[in-house]
Amino acid sequence: KDLRESDGKSRYHALMMFTKVDKSRSLQDKFRVAMLSMVKHGRFLEGEVLVLHFVCDDASRELGEKMLQEFLLDAKFKYEVLFHDVSALTRKLFPIVEAMQKHFSSGSGAYYSDAIFFLSVAMHRIMPDSLTRMVQLDLDLQYRVNIRELFQEFHQFPPGAVIGIAREMQPVYRHTFWQYRKENPQTKVGEPHPDGLPGFNSGVMLLDLASMRASSLYNQLLEPDHVAKLADQYRFRGHLGDQDFFTMIGMEHPELFYSLACGWNRQLCTWWREHGYGDVFQLYYRCNGPVYIYHGNCNTPIPDG
Ligand code: UDP
Ligand code: MN
Repeated sequence: KDLRESDGKSRYHALMMFTKVDKSRSLQDKFRVAMLSMVKHGRFLEGEVLVLHFVCDDASRELGEKMLQEFLLDAKFKYEVLFHDVSALTRKLFPIVEAMQKHFSSGSGAYYSDAIFFLSVAMHRIMPDSLTRMVQLDLDLQYRVNIRELFQEFHQFPPGAVIGIAREMQPVYRHTFWQYRKENPQTKVGEPHPDGLPGFNSGVMLLDLASMRASSLYNQLLEPDHVAKLADQYRFRGHLGDQDFFTMIGMEHPELFYSLACGWNRQLCTWWREHGYGDVFQLYYRCNGPVYIYHGNCNTPIPDG
């Protein structure tokens, strides 16, 4: 399919959450690793443009503009940078995700400012219809290959799939679904890969915005009554935002998701190994095959390279 726009260019869109970065040296260091490795391996064809979207507050935007000047110096591809104001996006998002927040946020209330953690869930309603695909990326990543190859994974989506996402590599959802698993001892919910359903990790996501808009199933699942019904059915109470929502609807409707290979989001966090799940940890953590993107989640250092 021809995705060229009226100026003759094909654009590849990638979005990163970029808030309170001015207040965290650690996030700044992660951002440097992510951008320098993306630039090091990035190659695009003639007429192609990588568009980098950042969701920021004013102070982070100001710092981000400075840092990007340095990080993008050696880019061997055309790029554009767009900044989105986090409060403007939150205003649009809140009415759509307010009802689901109580199931997937920490604390009891639906805090207005937490709505942004659900941006991926409703991005198809927030971004203009001309945007048909978006890759959403964490900042704590290190790229080992050309990011253009990640976009090629959109072509692997089977019919009906609207989101590409890798599995969660810790037994966190074995824990979250504890009560459901006790009541349903034969279930695959929360079991490890490849036979089980370990849930998803939101560090690298391919959002087929056009398919998300077109899917009546997906849009039904966003409705407060449907979310409440599923959360009750699975006895689900989480605090990880969009990744909890996708994990829960993925238990009921796995066909909505294309499974990215584990190498596209090789998570490194081992927190749950030391917190009651040492016996099964390795079943979740293992990832054979090449690593394309490392994810230093829960502040885990990423190996050099
Ligand atoms: N993030 C941010 N500001 C913050 C904390 C997080 O913009 O103060 C964004 C950033 O893009 C980050 C993502 O939210 O990569 C998810 O947070 P993090 O990667 O720290 O979570 P983890 O992967 O460790 O669960
Ligand atoms: Mn992360």
